[in-house]
Amino acid sequence: MVDDKLRTPGAVRDAERWTAHNYHPLPVVISSAEGAWLTDVDGRRYLDCLAGYSALNFGHRHPQLIAAAHAQLDRLTLTSRAFIHDQFADFCRELAELCGKDLVLPMNTGAEAVETGIKVARKWGYQVKGVAAGQANIVVAEGNFHGRTTTIVSFSTDEDARADFGPYTPGFTVVPYGDLDALTAAIDENTVAVLLEPIQGEQGVVVPPEGYLPGVRQVCTERNVLFIADEIQSGLGRTGATFACDHEGVVPDMYLLGKALGGGIVPVSAVAANADVLGVLKPGQHGSTFGGNPLACAVAIEVVRLLATGEFQRRSAELGERLRAGLEGLLGKGLVGVRVRGLWAGLDIDPALMSGREACERLAARGVLAKDTHGSTIRLAPPLVITEEEIDLAVTQLAEVLAG
Ligand SMILES: *Cc1c(COP(=O)(O)O)cnc(C)c1O
Repeated sequence: MVDDKLRTPGAVRDAERWTAHNYHPLPVVISSAEGAWLTDVDGRRYLDCLAGYSALNFGHRHPQLIAAAHAQLDRLTLTSRAFIHDQFADFCRELAELCGKDLVLPMNTGAEAVETGIKVARKWGYQVKGVAAGQANIVVAEGNFHGRTTTIVSFSTDEDARADFGPYTPGFTVVPYGDLDALTAAIDENTVAVLLEPIQGEQGVVVPPEGYLPGVRQVCTERNVLFIADEIQSGLGRTGATFACDHEGVVPDMYLLGKALGGGIVPVSAVAANADVLGVLKPGQHGSTFGGNPLACAVAIEVVRLLATGEFQRRSAELGERLRAGLEGLLGKGLVGVRVRGLWAGLDIDPALMSGREACERLAARGVLAKDTHGSTIRLAPPLVITEEEIDLAVTQLAEVLAG
C-alpha cells in the first residue's frame, strides 16, 4: 500500500508522464540540499554519493560559490562574447594557471569541450602538422564516455549510446583502453590526437595500468600527436589530485574540463592548452553564445580558487583511503571488484547477488544515493566535503545491502 500522504509517488508519476524517457532515475524526488545531504519532497534525507556525476565536488550550495553567484546575479549575467565582461579575464587567467597552460577556451557542457578539442586538434593537424586535407584521424579508447553529440557517439563502443544515431562522423580509430602497444600501432601520419579519459568514469572508474599514461604521453610526443585528456569527470579534485593525470606526472597537451568547474550551479566547461595549439582558432571559427558568460565565470573563478588552496585534493586523497579500506573490506562479502582513486570508487557487485540497479534502490531505501553504471557495477563519487563519519555510514549501509 502506498501511503497517500507521501508526495513522492505522485511526483515520480508526473515526472515520468511529462518527459522523454532518456533516463531511468531512482524514484526519489529531491527538493533541497546542503553539503553532502539531499532532502526529498517528503522530508527524508539522503547522503549524496553521486554528486551530480562529480559536478558537485564542492558539495551542494557551497557558501563561497553561492555568494559569488548571488553577487553576480545582481550585477550582470550575460553579454555574449561579442563584448568583453569584467569576470572574463580573471576566470581564464586563473584557470590557465591552475592547468599550467597558456590559454583557456570556455564553453558550457562537457560535450562541447570535447567537440572543441576535436575541432582544435583537426585544425592543428592541417595547419601545423601538415596532414592532407580531410585525412585527420583521432585515436580513442574502447569503453570511452565523452558525451552525447552525434560526433561523440560516433566513436562510442556502448551500443545504447550509439545505435541508430548514424550516419556516424568518420575520423576516429578505437583501440583497447590501457593497451599501449595497440594505441601506438593505431597512430599513423594522419593522426592528430589521442583522446582519452585518464580514468574511465562511466565505464566504472576503470584505472589504466601503471605506466600507461606516461607511455601515451611519450608516444604522442615522439609522433607529433596531441594528447587530449578528458578530465571532465576525473579532474578538479575528484581523484585526490587536481587532475587524474597528476598521479602519473603526466601533462597532456589539452585538458578538457567541465562538470565541477560550474560548482554545481551553472554549466561551465573549458579547454586549456598552450598557444601553439589553441592559437589555431581565429575569429568566427568556433564559439558559443553562453560560453564564458559572466555568471559562469563568477562561479568558476571561485571554483578555481577553492582548488588553488589544495584543500579539496587533500581531503579527497585522505578520505579516499578510508573509503578504500571500507570497500575493500567488502570484497568477498558481496563485492567482487573494487577500484578507488581518491573519493571515486567503482564497485563490482557479485552478479549472482543483485544488479547494480537493485543495489542502488536498496541503498536509496537506506538513505544513500548512488548510481549504477553497467550491469552490476556501481560508482560512488560523494562530494569532497563528505566527512569520515559519513563515509563510514555509506560503507555500513552498503555492507547491509550486500548482506541481504
Ligand atoms: C560527463 C562527461 C562528459 C560530457 O559532459 P556533459 O556536460 O554531460 O556534456 C564528457 N566526458 C566525460 C569523461 C564525462 O564524464
